[in-house]
Amino acid sequence: KGSDGNYTVTLIPGDGIGPEVSHAVKEIYRAANVPIKWEEVSVAPLIKNGKQVIPDESIVSIKKNTVALKGPLATPIGKGHVSLNLTLRRTFNLFANVRPCKSLEGYKTPYDNVDTVLIRENTEGEYSGIEHEVVDGVVQSIKLITYEASERVARYAFHHAKQNGRTRVTAVHKAPIMKMSDGMFLHACRQVAKEYPEIAYDEDLLDRACLRIVQDPAPYSDRVMVMPNLYGDILSDMCAGLIGGLGLTPSGNIGKDASIFEAVHGSAPDIAGQDKANPTALLLSSIMMLRHMSLFDKASQIESAIFKTIAAGERTGDLGGKLGTKAFTEKIISRL
Ligand code: NAD
Repeated sequence: KGSDGNYTVTLIPGDGIGPEVSHAVKEIYRAANVPIKWEEVSVAPLIKNGKQVIPDESIVSIKKNTVALKGPLATPIGKGHVSLNLTLRRTFNLFANVRPCKSLEGYKTPYDNVDTVLIRENTEGEYSGIEHEVVDGVVQSIKLITYEASERVARYAFHHAKQNGRTRVTAVHKAPIMKMSDGMFLHACRQVAKEYPEIAYDEDLLDRACLRIVQDPAPYSDRVMVMPNLYGDILSDMCAGLIGGLGLTPSGNIGKDASIFEAVHGSAPDIAGQDKANPTALLLSSIMMLRHMSLFDKASQIESAIFKTIAAGERTGDLGGKLGTKAFTEKIISRL
């Protein structure tokens, strides 16, 4: 927080629809007089000593501010490219990815009572990036699980449950198949559960959890689900589908050295630059960020303006509406 009373937050506009949805957030924050000064940085990769790295300027900014809002980054597929998202996660030790999915009032989906919170281990598991070709035509990919990272994310899950009035933590796994890796993840969760006697603890198989949530999401509104990396990636998109899709779902990457908030969706190259993107997901991510910074009043004010706008049928194309990104943003501003 600076002497002028403003907090400085790093803003990474990102690729594809990133600049459009980031612009919407900035406009709404300006209109709502949120005491935040944006420090805009690019994380476009540079080649240094033959390796792809994130520019120092962005690292320095996030280290200094400890809070960042990030647009989506396009990840080129194939050899030689390290995912920038992965690099950010590793650089800042962003060990827990929090993904809430809550039904929006006034936007009809098959269920109107979805309220799930999923916490995904964010640094290892299937995303360790350790792959090699054993012999021609045979590739091995290593899922790395450490007790340390499992315990850390489990502890955050219990902490988050307690802080947010949720009474249960469910660890989601495939331990009957991945006996050692998921087995250890569960062992870590069980150990941490002992430190939180006031929070109930149970375990569920990934496939069974998917089946149950799509059949009836209601029982999941009392708990926080915690799981290894890949399972969280997939299950959270499934939950997003239940509330109306990727245009609506926020996330927070909670770390030891910084926390970075971002939408669950990617850069949406199919609609980039066409004023079609729904800024709600990044906006709701920014609201998680405001609450993380204890700016609760501003968070509620903006959140309520978004929900009222969507409930009034003023929506972007992904939600069946006719408004472009800019017009939708104006409608939210008019309700602040
Ligand atoms: P995507 O999320 O970008 O798009 C999937 C579909 O959802 C598209 O049809 C898109 O138009 C739609 N969509 C997404 N966000 C929307 C929004 N806000 N409003 C309206 N419609 C929206 O997924 P993808 O096409 O698989 O990935 C594109 C690129 O994004 C890839 O390079 C991928 O690696 C990257 N990506 C980045 C992140 C991130 O930075 N956190 C996350 C996921 C994907």
